[in-house]
Amino acid sequence: MQALLRAAIPPLLAWFSAHKRDLPWRKDVSPYSVLVSELMLQQTRVEAVKERYVAFLSAYPTASALAAASEEEVMKAWEGLGYYSRARNLHRAAAIVAREGFPTTFEGVRALPGVGDYTAGAICSIALGLKEPAVDGNVVRILTRLFADGRCADDRRKKDFSALLKEVYPPETGQFCEALMELGALICLPNGAPVCEKCPWKGLCRAHAAGEETRYPVLAEKRARRVEEVIVLVLKYGARYALVKRKKGELLAGMYGFPVFEKADPAAYGNILAVKTAKFLFTHVEWRMTGYFISASHPFPEFLWATKEEIQTQYAIPSAFRAFRSFL
Ligand code: SF4
Repeated sequence: MQALLRAAIPPLLAWFSAHKRDLPWRKDVSPYSVLVSELMLQQTRVEAVKERYVAFLSAYPTASALAAASEEEVMKAWEGLGYYSRARNLHRAAAIVAREGFPTTFEGVRALPGVGDYTAGAICSIALGLKEPAVDGNVVRILTRLFADGRCADDRRKKDFSALLKEVYPPETGQFCEALMELGALICLPNGAPVCEKCPWKGLCRAHAAGEETRYPVLAEKRARRVEEVIVLVLKYGARYALVKRKKGELLAGMYGFPVFEKADPAAYGNILAVKTAKFLFTHVEWRMTGYFISASHPFPEFLWATKEEIQTQYAIPSAFRAFRSFL
């Protein structure tokens, strides 16, 4: 495996330098900018991150600038990216970096809030020149195909591949790390759709040689998402709408959203004007929502009442509620 991987590095780096995408986080790279882009790219598509990244970095060009912002401002700047715990972690990480400087070792980077093994590897490789692999599902996929490795593509494989990559890591640490990700993003695609004809590993790849690209990776059975049926109330009183700050331990903790209940009698809050159903997928939970647009009988004191304009400018309403914004 090691010899094959070593042979695969030069064609990969050559392909990357000729075909890499022009992405905003590939310009003016700094440890802080990579921390921001990598946290944004966790669980969010490149296209969605592109726009937000530029706006975020221009609002907060340094860790100190970000650390000086309020949590509400940071949440607002993060709006649309979802998974808001990342924004809170980034804010906390910025405070640490502003105080102590950016860490210079894998362990130091890994200890920052919100940074797991993959993100720490990416930051170390791309911004610090350290030979620390970043292995996610994409990298596992391309390597299981390169090696025709039929073992289960689980966390243990990530560890194995990480150890293997560390042994062969070339001096172009950032290029190599990004090239592996780019190959997974552009060529060696998931769901049985690799574009082998354009792949720099076409002549080396064992899965391709056997005509069995789609056999890999061999995945463990996925745990099904837990389905939660919830009632969402969009209460209007005069020109204001009811919001709640979601509690610790709940999904979307710390975010402002419309009131959500497992059980509720919507008619008890006023006149029902419209009803709409929608679904939202979190990592482990699926929300099946029934949303009621209600003309409230009075301004219930347990809620915070905000105008449409305030909702648009001050409160980062999570995308889980997107379907009900049309009620505003
Ligand atoms: S040859 Fe095909 S299967 Fe093999 S690494 Fe390239 S794209 Fe993936």
